Amino acid sequence: MSECLFCEIVAGRIPSKKVFEDDATFAFEDIAPRAPTHVLIVPRRHIDTIGAADDEALVGRVFLTAARIARDRGLESYRLVVNNGEGAGQTVFHLHVHLLGGRPLSWPPG
Ligand code: 5GP
Ligand code: ZN
Repeated sequence: MSECLFCEIVAGRIPSKKVFEDDATFAFEDIAPRAPTHVLIVPRRHIDTIGAADDEALVGRVFLTAARIARDRGLESYRLVVNNGEGAGQTVFHLHVHLLGGRPLSWPPG
């Protein structure tokens, strides 16, 4: 058993509401949604944080998967968020992009 929650979700050992998957990425509904659309997009391969990422192509795939899900849902306005480090609100240390949409999103975030 991996100690990483999102590695377990990608492997299917912890259930999730899957939204999309391909060879490099996996997307699932956030368990505590902060907006009508709140999907998490992760690389299948474990990377702790965006600050520790060294694979440009894989990071690009994660972001383009997020944009594709937004397009498929008909979202014209949405936000992609990556929290890096505890001080920024990161609680799961497997790189993930939050896709938030379906309501007005104020700026700047808190
Ligand atoms: P972070 O705070 O690290 O940027 O985001 C972690 C996200 O993972 C949070 O929005 C939280 O609701 C979500 N999350 C935590 N545990 C689970 C879980 O077991 N399943 C799912 N689907 N989402 C989770
Ligand atoms: Zn992981």
